Amino acid sequence: MSIQWFPGHMHLTRKAIGERIKDIDVVIELLDARLPGSSGNPLLAELTGHKPTLKVLNKQDVADPARTPAWLDWYNARPGTRAIALDASDAAPARRLVEACRQLAPNRRGLSRPMRVLICGIPNVGKSTLINTLSAKREAKTGDEAGVTKQEQRIVLDDDFYLWDTPGMLWPRIIVPESGYRLAASGAVGRNAYDEEEVALELLAYVKRHYASLLDARYKLGLDAQAIGASHDDELLALIAKKRGAVMSGGRLNLQKAAEIVLTDLRSAALGRVTLEIPEEFESWLAAARLK
Ligand code: GDP
Repeated sequence: MSIQWFPGHMHLTRKAIGERIKDIDVVIELLDARLPGSSGNPLLAELTGHKPTLKVLNKQDVADPARTPAWLDWYNARPGTRAIALDASDAAPARRLVEACRQLAPNRRGLSRPMRVLICGIPNVGKSTLINTLSAKREAKTGDEAGVTKQEQRIVLDDDFYLWDTPGMLWPRIIVPESGYRLAASGAVGRNAYDEEEVALELLAYVKRHYASLLDARYKLGLDAQAIGASHDDELLALIAKKRGAVMSGGRLNLQKAAEIVLTDLRSAALGRVTLEIPEEFESWLAAARLK
């Protein structure tokens, strides 16, 4: 079974972005650095056409630092696209976004109107945090209270640089089952749309192969990496339940509780810095889906 998630109002968002896009110089797509491919919405490229695009891999502080550069290279190899990695709460790096946008649209020189940038991202990717960080910076710098204009969803970052928030909600679009599990783990998908045990098992299947030592350190499994990699996913979840005292009356293991623990630890990075996909994997999932 895979995750089915069809939230409403996507057609309204599509229409609203479509109307706004003609005045926009650069589109920023905020991605989750722990699942960059899966957290992107292909609909956006469809709507924004050939507008220069900045991919911002947010939450880099909780992503695997060994994997983020490969994702940046993957996006930077695309024409009209640049990619940077950030931690949305960190003000100075967030400011790099302004520079990156200016570099993406250099042919605006000579135009008198301000640069207009549209920022989009699926739920929980950190858009509000980033917007707050950027607008607080502006307020701190200028003492100007009109930095954030809620009704218009426009944030004035510099006198000649306007950031527009997405009109409507950009929901994730689940194209491959692998992405569905990762999106559920990241908190981008409504809780009633998936079964926590199923998602935790899928993620353990991945994490045990790539981050066995983090699993061992977090849950004191007492197994070496090879043994963790070789265990069945349900045995691993049962062992985590046991180690965490997730037991029901009568002594049966509470696997639902163990699944919640695993997902909470992944989301909060209590498990450690983990990235749940590399570009080659994501490409192979897409290719397999196309063959179906
Ligand atoms: P939005 O739905 O895209 O507006 O996401 P929010 O800004 O509400 O952020 C969702 C969650 O991710 C919150 O718990 C934030 O504190 C957290 N978050 C946002 N940006 C970062 C980041 O760069 N690093 C980390 N570790 N957490 C972040």
